[in-house]
Amino acid sequence: MQVSRKIFDTCVVFDLDDTLYPEHAFVSSALVATGKFAEEKWGLAGLGDAAQGLFHAGQRKELFQQAYRLLGHGEMEESKVQKLLEIYRGHRPESLPWFPDALEAIELLKPHATLGLISDGYLPTQRNKAEALGVQRWIPEPIFTEELGRQYWKPSPRAFELMMQRHPGLQYIYIADNPAKDFVAPNLLGWKTLQILRPEGQYQSVSPAVNGEAQIKLTDLREVVRHL
Ligand SMILES: [Mg+2]
Repeated sequence: MQVSRKIFDTCVVFDLDDTLYPEHAFVSSALVATGKFAEEKWGLAGLGDAAQGLFHAGQRKELFQQAYRLLGHGEMEESKVQKLLEIYRGHRPESLPWFPDALEAIELLKPHATLGLISDGYLPTQRNKAEALGVQRWIPEPIFTEELGRQYWKPSPRAFELMMQRHPGLQYIYIADNPAKDFVAPNLLGWKTLQILRPEGQYQSVSPAVNGEAQIKLTDLREVVRHL
């Protein structure tokens, strides 16, 4: 594919979950690990499978409590919920699958553009995901908003301002999937914003935040070079 010379002056910044890889792959892996823990430590069978079933049916909140009820055990003690959340959030998947178009786009851009990553979510969960994907091979200094402070999760502009300080004088583009929070700050700061529409993504149909609509929408990240 023809690469425009503008690419050399561009800082291309990616979101992580459902932009570079399917988040459900992490969720599945972490629920297996959590279910295994519950079975081995508490003799509680079937929790991981029940939670997975609920997740695939669209349930996003209180997965462990709901799974526990589904198994006929009533209310789960809060200390157990907290322990399972700890196992879930600390889970280190051995590997995670890239979206093939995301990996191809990054390999195409790497020799020319400055690459970055801005991701929300709990540490060390986000670090573990990035490590399982080998993100740092392409993006040596990812920014995890949680490192800056919980108040700096998107839509705060803090991480985007930090990216501009680290790589001054470039054009910036943010590529992400969730119009409810991802594009507000980069739109405000004059970045180009691009939403990747993933059929399996969680946020494809959420309403955009005020001033949070992406300027460009794509279904394949290999098309990104046309927009630089
Ligand atoms: Mg995302």
